[in-house]
Order: sequence, then structure tokens, then C-alpha cells
Amino acid sequence: MSDIRVIQWGLGAMGSGMARLMESKTGLKIVGAYDQDPQKVGQDLGDFLGGAENGVRIQQPPNVGEMSLEQADLVVLATSSFTKDVAPQIEIALKHSLNVISIAEEMAYPWAQEPELAKHIDGLAKEYGVSVLGTGINPGFVLDTLILAMTGPCLEVDHIKATRINDLSPFGPTVMQTQGVGVSVEAFEAGLQSGEIVGHVGFKESIHLLAKTLGWKLDRIEETRFPIISKVYRETAHVKVEPGHVAGCKHSAIGYVDGVPKIELIHPQQVLPQLEGIETGDYIDISGQPDIHLAIKPEIPGGLGTMAMAVNMIPQVLAARPGLLSMAELPVPAALMGDVRALLAWRKGE
Ligand code: NAD
Repeated sequence: MSDIRVIQWGLGAMGSGMARLMESKTGLKIVGAYDQDPQKVGQDLGDFLGGAENGVRIQQPPNVGEMSLEQADLVVLATSSFTKDVAPQIEIALKHSLNVISIAEEMAYPWAQEPELAKHIDGLAKEYGVSVLGTGINPGFVLDTLILAMTGPCLEVDHIKATRINDLSPFGPTVMQTQGVGVSVEAFEAGLQSGEIVGHVGFKESIHLLAKTLGWKLDRIEETRFPIISKVYRETAHVKVEPGHVAGCKHSAIGYVDGVPKIELIHPQQVLPQLEGIETGDYIDISGQPDIHLAIKPEIPGGLGTMAMAVNMIPQVLAARPGLLSMAELPVPAALMGDVRALLAWRKGE
């Protein structure tokens, strides 16, 4: 059996972790690595990841029209959050008949905000006979896939409320800026107005995915964002928060069906919540027949969870029908604890 050959595209905090995880799995082989950062380009990937050299050089990504990708089975993309930014990268991969897994938040359900691009990607994937999936911890798992799985034992669902209280401390400067961590309350409000502070990316995708899969027709989604104002001094490797300044963003969204609020997602994200006695956790409350309640304490860690979701979905994607797929259309995620080639063969019924 030959190895499953993967290209890692994007070697930041997430992409590097995914590459390390793939290197540790039997039957997966990284055959190519791309990043646009000149400091990474040219390095041996194994060396860059802190291990032994593996002979794979990190390269500048190819441009559209440049058809020079390695022979591979799949590309794992960890470059950006937005469908419009990753669509050209996905297009290159598809035109090489490569399957794609992306952690771009909007790719979890790109029909929500980019229906034209979603249609284009779906068409290309079908034309080239390969599959594309957007996944991650959230969106991709906690506030959508996990909720859907919890509705499986329900005869009826009336209302869904889910809350993810997490700690942003492991994340870098980009996340601190987009969440408004460390700034004054006035600067937070100005950032929301200008679009520089966005809070969580993914509510629309999660809510659309939930509604579509349950068979609910959404009227609209309402979102609110409030600053989480710190009472104490907080400091991480990337940010300092003075008392009275912003420690994070309490971002919530409600999806309405026939004018009735049906899906309520609440996601307060801040650095070091424990300094004010706040425990992290993931909570799902389904009102229906029967009511179902799930509490996970502490939160499922976001960084590790994202790396794992992207890598663990490889066999499902390789065994899937061609097209642009969502987590709801693929078999349940599961950790890869054996030879990935054998797990793929089993999924294909070979
Ligand atoms: P990061 O900033 O640490 O790394 C991004 C890397 O991609 C950098 O090395 C950068 O040089 C590279 N890059 C950017 N554009 C590129 C391009 N066009 N071609 C090649 N390389 C390119 O970010 P991260 O923490 O690794 O996260 C990556 C993305 O995934 C972010 O947008 C983040 O918001 C998203 N994300 C999603 C989830 C989820 O649950 N779905 C979870 C974590 C991160």
C-alpha cells in the first residue's frame, strides 16, 4: 500500500501543528509544503518543525496558472479565514485533481456568505473528481457538528442554545487584534465600526449548517458583540490588558426560523478568564423531545482541536463523493490511531 501523500499549505501556528501531527501518523506522508513567508521558504520542513530533516523544502505557493504542484492526494490549507482568500488556492489544488481540507472559518459552510464561490468550487471539484471540506474546532465542530450529533436522539427539536467559553491566551497577535484584546473600550467600539475588530468568524456558517441539516429555513441571523472589560491586569505572550480595558469579545448570534429564534450561539472569548474566576467550557442545550444537555469542562482546546479535526478528516474526505462538502455530509470524525491507509481502505469498502 502506498502512503497517502499530502501537501501542507500554510505553516503558521495551526499549519505547523497539523504538519507535525501528520508526520507522526503511519501511512501519511507530507510531499510538499508552501508558505508565503520568506523566512520560512527554503527551509527543510522537518527542521522547521523542530525534528529531523525530511527532504521536503518549504516553497513559495504557486500562482493560479502555474501548474507545478507535487503529485499528491490532498492539500491541507491553513492560510486564512475567508473563502475569497482561499478560493484561488483551492482552485489550484482542484485543477491538479487534489482533494482539499481547509480550516478557513468561512469554508465550514461557504454557501452562507459566498454562494457564488461555493458553487464555483463545487463545480470544479466535481469536474476533477475530488472533494473539498472546511473544518476546524469552531466552526467545524463545537458549535455545529457536535450540536447536530446531539440532536440525533431527538424526536423533535424546538430550540438550540450553545455556549463556548474559551481562553484566547494561546493565540497570536492576529487573533488579539481581530478580537480587540488589550484596547480601550472606545477603541473597541471604533474597531467594530471600522471592521478591524470582528469577534468570532463562523457564526453564520455554523447557523446555516445547523439549519440546513435539520431542515429549517432561516429568515435571518442577528449578531451582537460586546467588550469583555477586565477588572484585573492580564498579560500573555502577545498582549497586555490593563484593568478597565478589553480582555475579549462577547459575541453571540441568533438564527430565526419563521420569525422565531431557534438557534442561539454564545461565544465569549477572552484571555485568561480564570483571573476573574471564569471557567472555560462548552455547553449545548437542546429543547425538544427529549431535552438534551451537554457540558464539557474545561473547553475543548481550540488549537489542538483544530489541528486534529483537519488531519482526522483525511480518510473521510478521500473516501467521499466529489464536490464541496460540509461536516454534516461526511461520516463522524474520529481520531486516527492506526495505519491511515488501512482506515481509508476500510472506508472505501476495499
Ligand atoms: P497564522 O497567522 O499563525 O498562520 C498562517 C500562515 O499562513 C502563515 O505562516 C502565513 O505566512 C501563511 N499564509 C498566509 N497566506 C498564505 C498564502 N496565500 N500562501 C501561503 N501561505 C500563506 O494563522 P493560524 O493560527 O495558523 O490559522 C490559520 C487560519 O486558520 C486563520 O485564518 C485562522 O483564523 C483559521 N483558524 C480556523 C480555525 C477553525 O476552527 N476553523 C481554528 C484556528 C484557526
